Amino acid sequence: MIYCCEEHVELALDVIVDDYMTSPTLEKIDEEKKISTTCEYCRNLAVYVVANS
Ligand SMILES: [Zn+2]
Repeated sequence: MIYCCEEHVELALDVIVDDYMTSPTLEKIDEEKKISTTCEYCRNLAVYVVANS
């Protein structure tokens, strides 16, 4: 699973596709988790979680 901000959501989707060869799922992070979770690729707060389904 990859946590990412709006800016890096495309990148995270690509990484999942490359790693798992499956179409990824994209979900918005719950409001309360958003506060403590940062993007994998920068210091912004994560908005989405990308996972392989
Ligand atoms: Zn980011």
